[in-house]
Amino acid sequence: AKFKDGLTKTRDVFVGRVDDLLHRYKKIDESFFEELEEILISADVGVSTVMELVDGLRSEVKKQKIEDPQQLKPLLSEKLVGLFHNQQLQSGLNIEEGRLNVIMFVGVNGVGKTTTIGKMAHMLKQQGKKVVLAAGDTFRAGAIEQLEVWGQRVGVEVIKHQAGADPAAVIYDAISAARSRGADILLCDTAGRLQNKVNLMEELNKVYRVISREVPDAPHETLLVLDATTGQNAMSQAKAFGEVTKVSGIVLTKLDGTAKGGIVIAIAGELNTPVKYVGLGEKMDDLQPFDPEQFVHALFA
Ligand code: GDP
Repeated sequence: AKFKDGLTKTRDVFVGRVDDLLHRYKKIDESFFEELEEILISADVGVSTVMELVDGLRSEVKKQKIEDPQQLKPLLSEKLVGLFHNQQLQSGLNIEEGRLNVIMFVGVNGVGKTTTIGKMAHMLKQQGKKVVLAAGDTFRAGAIEQLEVWGQRVGVEVIKHQAGADPAAVIYDAISAARSRGADILLCDTAGRLQNKVNLMEELNKVYRVISREVPDAPHETLLVLDATTGQNAMSQAKAFGEVTKVSGIVLTKLDGTAKGGIVIAIAGELNTPVKYVGLGEKMDDLQPFDPEQFVHALFA
């Protein structure tokens, strides 16, 4: 239900338009496909993914000699779900018992990184895990305090230094603290200023090196946080971060705030990184594991 509610805006606009299309046409023809393409593109599905999808539909329609637009709906859902299975599907987090699991969060300012860390800490704590947070964004004004507020809210410890401190040193301390507390999981915030891309990337690399030096096989996850409301911008951020860090999964935030939830489909179609979680609101329990079938079902059912 949560998943469905969070997608209300997308469902109303996107599915409303698809339904309208299916009702207006008596017969499937080329202008039908062109309108469908336009609807998908305006929902941020991404041009190349739209082309792939619609080409697939065209040939299926021809092969099965489908004429009635109504018959296209199940076919479209099927093609959409299929897109997600092209990705190496790996849901959930790479977490193992009996070791310190380190999860690094990357993403530009404002996408919802801090909020996502808070929500994930809550989720993991609910699962009985001992969680520690590392305030590795020492650059953005207020980031440390904001993480502390989340730490108090959720009831987990936050390891921090002063504003402006070296993020790698914060992470180093957080790893020792997490170890001495016997924590299962350390969630590491990082800076996300894009104004100085070279410095940012160097800083992320330094954090990465500390983590991988101090903890075997770590980071066990590097999650890229993207804001669904920024559409194609989110896609270019994914490509930029993908060039400098090994991103293992995506958290797509603010899906509740956009009618352009098609961005999830664009990510599935164009990137080789699975969407692992979606943000459907600002509250503690508004982080949900992403399930492609549930997603497509929530859109069309
Ligand atoms: P950061 O700069 O990346 O750390 O971003 P923040 O965590 O400070 O989030 C920026 C704003 O987005 C805050 O007002 C959050 O409450 C809001 N936000 C984060 N995730 C979500 C979400 O899934 N849905 C909605 N509606 N708002 C969100």
